[in-house]
Amino acid sequence: MLFIPQTKSSLLKMAAGIDPVHYARTRNHIHGGITRLSPYISRGVIATRDVMMLLQENGFTWLQCESLLKELAWRDYFQRVQQHFPLLHAEAIKQEQSGVVNHGIPAAVFLGQTGIDGIDNGIHEMMDTGYLHNHQRMYTAMLCCNIGQYHWKACADWMYYHLIDGDVASNYCSWQWTAGAFSSKRYIANQENINHYTDTTQSGTFLDADYDALREMSIPAELQDNHDWQPFHWSSSALKDAVQNKMPAFDFPSDHLPAVMYNAYQLSQDDLVNTPHHKVLLLEPSFFQKFPVSPNVMRWILDQAALIEGLTYFVGEWDEWSQNTTGHDCHFVEHPLFDHYQGNKMSRQWMFPDVSGYYPSFFAYWKQVEKRYTW
Ligand SMILES: Cc1cc2nc3c(=O)[nH]c(=O)nc-3n(C[C@H](O)[C@H](O)[C@H](O)COP(=O)(O)OP(=O)(O)OC[C@H]3O[C@@H](n4cnc5c(N)ncnc54)[C@H](O)[C@@H]3O)c2cc1C
Repeated sequence: MLFIPQTKSSLLKMAAGIDPVHYARTRNHIHGGITRLSPYISRGVIATRDVMMLLQENGFTWLQCESLLKELAWRDYFQRVQQHFPLLHAEAIKQEQSGVVNHGIPAAVFLGQTGIDGIDNGIHEMMDTGYLHNHQRMYTAMLCCNIGQYHWKACADWMYYHLIDGDVASNYCSWQWTAGAFSSKRYIANQENINHYTDTTQSGTFLDADYDALREMSIPAELQDNHDWQPFHWSSSALKDAVQNKMPAFDFPSDHLPAVMYNAYQLSQDDLVNTPHHKVLLLEPSFFQKFPVSPNVMRWILDQAALIEGLTYFVGEWDEWSQNTTGHDCHFVEHPLFDHYQGNKMSRQWMFPDVSGYYPSFFAYWKQVEKRYTW
């Protein structure tokens, strides 16, 4: 299924049709009733809170929605973790991953040729559409980190690069969680589990064993070759080429109206400020060099951005932007990756705004949510 850029109103219509009870029963299955909202949530087009409010308005009880609310809350939880650990894309959150033998990415994973069909099919789907089911993300991560004994970092970079919902907090926290760097136990799935959730019927593979055997197993030959992967380099001119036919450039008017800043994680179609203002998509080469995305993902981000009425672009670093715009106030939505912006910081739309700060586990976070927010 291809994801097309959407208006917020069509997304709200889509979200209004969610059946949270069916979701709870089937979400782990690759053909289950998942929402597929993540690209729009990650890019700030629709908030987790919008989905929660819709479920409430549609008359569902807390219990009926609990499974979906919990998944939405995982996202907000990871965002909170990122506020506390802004370097979670590079450093272990709780402890170093144990038993690391390899760095880089297994060539078989890179090529989608691991021999485990439920994983290979997912990798090919991700290459074609930019999307991967949550279970297949977990299977891929456990295969790399806990079977192939690769360090999580380069593999997580590779997955982030290909996902149109790529979100630094959700992606790197999930990889670290799977690898045991943000959890007390490493996640492993065997062939039987993978067959069950991905509609495959394989046997005799290197994962066709019980869990004790998988924990003791030496690295299978299929995962021993390492691929030297290089992401696309987003120079200033590459960014300009990608954006210039999608929207006009910001032309530094002398009107002194404030500017509202947009970026790859802030593509809201709502008016973020009520008074007249300029809307500027700030494309910083340094950001995309630190967190590279594939040309397909960049195209998707820019097509989604182009749906924002009146949006203009500026390719350059924040310092360059601010030196050229003295006299224009800036407004922007808070995010740890854009902490270097200066001006009027607006809050994000959290589902549970009073449960803030760092909780060492999702369980501890969710306990606080349940105390204050059930309906
Ligand atoms: C290794 C790995 C990497 C991941 N990388 C990303 C990423 O870069 N960006 C991203 O948005 N999600 C990531 N996830 C989380 C999850 O896989 C996706 O959010 C989910 O698959 C999106 O599909 P959906 O919208 O149909 O989800 P649904 O099941 O319909 O869930 C609804 C929403 O809840 C949130 N959500 C659901 N599950 C999770 C979860 N486990 N963690 C965090 N939020 C969740 C998402 O915003 C999602 O859109 C990753 C998970 C793993 C295991």
